[in-house]
Amino acid sequence: MAVAQLFRLVICRSVARATLRVHRRYSKVCPASSERLRVFESFREKHSNKRRFEVPETRLTIRLADGRTVKGTAGVTTPLFVAQSVRVKGALVSKVNGELWELGRPLEADCELQLLGFDTIEGRQAAWRTGACVLGGVLEKVFGAEVCREGASELGLYCDHLLDNSALPLSDVGDRCKQAAALKLPLSRLELNTEEVQELFQNSKLRMQLVEEQMNGPTITVYRCGDSIAVCDSPLLPHTGLLKVFKTIQLSPVTLANQTESSGLMRLLGVAFPGEKDKEEWEREQEEARRRDHRRIGTDQELFFFNDVSPGSCFFLPKGAYIYNTLTDFIKSEYRRRGFNEVVTPTLYSTALWERSGHWEHYSENMFTVTSEGSQTYALKPMNCPAHCLMFEQRVRSWRELPLRWADFGALHRNELSGALGGLTRVRRFCQDDAHIFCTPEQLEEEIVACLDFVRSVYQVFGFSFHCLLSTRPTPCLGEPEQWDNAEQQLERSLQHFGECWELNPGDGAFYGPKIDIQIKDAIGRQHQCATIQLDFQLPIRFDLQYVGRDGQLHRPVMIHRAVLGSLERMIAILAENFGGKWPLWLSPAQVMVIPVGGNSESYSKQVVRQFCEAGFMADLNDDQGATLNKKIRSAQLAQYNYIFVVGDKESESGTVNVRSRGGKQLGRRPTEEVLTSLTQLRDTRSNLDEF
Ligand SMILES: [Zn+2]
Repeated sequence: MAVAQLFRLVICRSVARATLRVHRRYSKVCPASSERLRVFESFREKHSNKRRFEVPETRLTIRLADGRTVKGTAGVTTPLFVAQSVRVKGALVSKVNGELWELGRPLEADCELQLLGFDTIEGRQAAWRTGACVLGGVLEKVFGAEVCREGASELGLYCDHLLDNSALPLSDVGDRCKQAAALKLPLSRLELNTEEVQELFQNSKLRMQLVEEQMNGPTITVYRCGDSIAVCDSPLLPHTGLLKVFKTIQLSPVTLANQTESSGLMRLLGVAFPGEKDKEEWEREQEEARRRDHRRIGTDQELFFFNDVSPGSCFFLPKGAYIYNTLTDFIKSEYRRRGFNEVVTPTLYSTALWERSGHWEHYSENMFTVTSEGSQTYALKPMNCPAHCLMFEQRVRSWRELPLRWADFGALHRNELSGALGGLTRVRRFCQDDAHIFCTPEQLEEEIVACLDFVRSVYQVFGFSFHCLLSTRPTPCLGEPEQWDNAEQQLERSLQHFGECWELNPGDGAFYGPKIDIQIKDAIGRQHQCATIQLDFQLPIRFDLQYVGRDGQLHRPVMIHRAVLGSLERMIAILAENFGGKWPLWLSPAQVMVIPVGGNSESYSKQVVRQFCEAGFMADLNDDQGATLNKKIRSAQLAQYNYIFVVGDKESESGTVNVRSRGGKQLGRRPTEEVLTSLTQLRDTRSNLDEF
């Protein structure tokens, strides 16, 4: 115990000394910032006095991901200390029993510890959040900007700021960040309540407004980095010295929610890295992402386009529509096997329905409304659930009918801000492979397992790996605690029964029920969340849904919202980028290109095209007299035709085609009938194989 105390004392002193040194070096501060620092330090003093007696020092056992265990002391041993003692290099942040945890934050009890580097999403985000704090300090101190928000996204780190003189020399900003980071500024963390944070940011109205939007609990975390104060709700690095490379990307205006006139707020986007190598790897990823960008593929392959006459609503050209319909057909075939029935429901509903479902109160700003016959207001549906509730209550339901599984491909509209729209990933008009299951509480577990199995069988076809997250009750939430306990336990049992890996995501459920989110990993390692399985206790209450049970009494059904592909539009974007535009045969809108060589083979080649089209293939003919055979083959390959058939006199005489695959592999001369049979089989089994 004594040793532990000594150890803590030594650490505290050395950190304090380092902090002091750094703060001294970094000392030219404007009056508003120095007042802010004074307030911050006074809160820190207050909070540390409060905490001093709280953590009991007990021995603890830390289990690492590789199976090793390390002994430590509660309230003293940090993940950083563990990383150093087991010689793990490059750790930036950690996870303690699945919860993100700063490297410098002492462990509190026996735990599982994961050390995460820049090659993990968590590590990268922690690096970028820290980079955003460095950038914020530089913008304030060097360029005199007022920083209102900082953070990190998939794209990089950012600082939203106000600056009178808007000419910001971007490369200079990057250099200044590098210099500031090299000072190894420590990041001191404080959790503040609303009043405290108001006092801290009393001089900045816009900052305070944005902080209030960020707050989703009684407190919010703020950090001191050098002489600036940042707001950040997730862990940062122990000090800025771990970031060695900075790069600014772009400066653009920020549109705030409910904003009527320009706030003048600008976003500076950039990236930061622990080393040159990480930057090079990121640049390679960016290049690969540009090459695979679904918007580029959509244009090159003539799949879809957008037009300003209907922002956020996609025009699918024939080839894009083929992909769209093939995906829908795939899901429909699964519906038939899995006991789902399709329904068709209206698009426009009186606001009376949305008031009843609660959407009007909570979601109306995202809904498009239409006025008809003078005063009647209707809204375009943003989701199908209320319509399905109306269908359930349309007549008396018996336990014998349950579970009811209703699927709906109806078009949905959500009013996304025009600035947020982009390609197929953020749209206003979309369609989901949406379904609702109404069942008895006893049927819940089995239904969830069946939903999970559905998800798995679809994702296997796409070649996606996935993992599940069980999101439990948030605060505040609606419904009785016992009901939540029960439902969460059932979901947990379903996941256990299902047998794939899953994680707990505490507090992230919807306010109306717990849910399972399924995260997929695509071919280039990016993660997406598409499928979701959500329980809903509230809608059956709001619509007073009931069924006659086996006992003759009325009972409340449970409702499950679920989707496998999620939005079809977004899934097409993900698949386009996942396959890099090289669609597998079954999904490909360009399956077969027939190229005749020599005048006599033309009628035979037309016959081959007809034969394949009749069998449901997307087959085309290139009989352009002006191009050479090689050029035609090359352009068919560029257009991503899965197979190219070259047909000359020999082929037409023997009823064969000379086949090559998209990748240039010669599969040789084969009887046309045989090729048709093989390709039909590849397509119908949704195989990813090229050769046959
Ligand atoms: Zn729903």
